[in-house]
Amino acid sequence: MSNMPLPFSKAEIESIICSAPTPFHIYDERAILANARRLKAAFAWNEGFREYFAVKATPNPYIMKLLAAEGFGADCSSGPELTLAEQVGVVGEGIMFTSNDTPAAEYERAKALGAIMNLDDISHIDYVDGLVGLPELICYRYNPGALKEGNAIIGHPEDAKYGFTREQLIEGYRIARDRGVKRFGIHTMVASNELNGEYFVETAQLLFELIVEISNELGIRFEFANLGGGIGIPYRPDETAVDLEWVSAGIKERYDSIIKAGNLDPLKLYLECGRMVTGPYGYLVSTVRHLKHTYKDYVGLDACMTNLMRPGMYGAYHHITVLGKENAPCDHVYDVTGSLCENNDKFAVARELPEMVPGDIVVIHDAGAHGHAMGFNYNGKLRSAELLLRENGEAVQIRREETETDLFATLDFDALADFEIASPIALD
Ligand SMILES: *Cc1c(COP(=O)(O)O)cnc(C)c1O
Repeated sequence: MSNMPLPFSKAEIESIICSAPTPFHIYDERAILANARRLKAAFAWNEGFREYFAVKATPNPYIMKLLAAEGFGADCSSGPELTLAEQVGVVGEGIMFTSNDTPAAEYERAKALGAIMNLDDISHIDYVDGLVGLPELICYRYNPGALKEGNAIIGHPEDAKYGFTREQLIEGYRIARDRGVKRFGIHTMVASNELNGEYFVETAQLLFELIVEISNELGIRFEFANLGGGIGIPYRPDETAVDLEWVSAGIKERYDSIIKAGNLDPLKLYLECGRMVTGPYGYLVSTVRHLKHTYKDYVGLDACMTNLMRPGMYGAYHHITVLGKENAPCDHVYDVTGSLCENNDKFAVARELPEMVPGDIVVIHDAGAHGHAMGFNYNGKLRSAELLLRENGEAVQIRREETETDLFATLDFDALADFEIASPIALD
């Protein structure tokens, strides 16, 4: 199995563990920044290009603040995500509010913050209008249905709950125009963790053609096209990252032949990627607790599925490095498990790894997005800490680990004493 590089040595992690016990997530600032700058550079040809970081991927305000300093906006879909954006100073049109099945209170918050409202359904036009009035800038999410193939995680667009149909979209812009809305955007997102760059070029083409059609039919001008997120990352050592420069060049070609040729430029391009922004640059660090040999060989870690649920939930591959054994032969086959009372609590099944012993430090790769964020408390598990490896090599805590007090904060144990059982059953 080929090695995947790490931004820290075994000795550095051992010294971090002295003050921050495993398990924890650690993010690599230098790599996050380099990648963010590369994304911006790839699309620099488009004036007004902006990435709205999908907050759900890594909802940590320290990470968000780093990205905000690079000019990234925030793609939010809930009240707490709006709070995080506000806390890092991302407000107004720096926020893309792409929600669905949205409660009134969240539309009110989004409006108060001046966020771009990206509506998920035609019925929400009247809903928002009745609630807070239509904003000056409106965006709708398009679901191309059978027009576009989906992929494994997001499924087929026609089965996806998101977005307007084509007919609804045109009707929706007509309604907004007739009610005095002056500024328009359009959005679609039909892939998740997609490694085929052509997919994003095709998506742009589909949106560009639609923009021409709607602009001509309704006489409105689009300010931006939001191509969504969904750019995949190479979780497996034999996979290749999406070539951003190639994708951007392909999109530019369609921009020139469709948007420019149709006299519809300038049109700002937006992305709302999460996974590719932080995913490869976050690691779950854990220690081997027990080895178990029954019908199979098991390595039991001090992390479990509540720290990273992708392998258990999707059967997703996450590469595993055993620190200090990078060059040892992978001549053992292990299931790498956590301590949850669920048999899918496995980080790897039948993985070829070097021989392991209790105390080995294990690094689980590509845990920077949809990792800590998807954490949960099932089985009384406490969420782990998050650390940031700064550019100067220092590791700082950006979220402490949960305690039992945090876990039980919503329970009132004092009231429990006064809680009377109406007719207690006597146990002989
Ligand atoms: C999840 C999501 C994203 C981010 O997706 P990634 O795969 O992390 O890039 C962006 N936009 C919307 C609407 C989403 O639901």
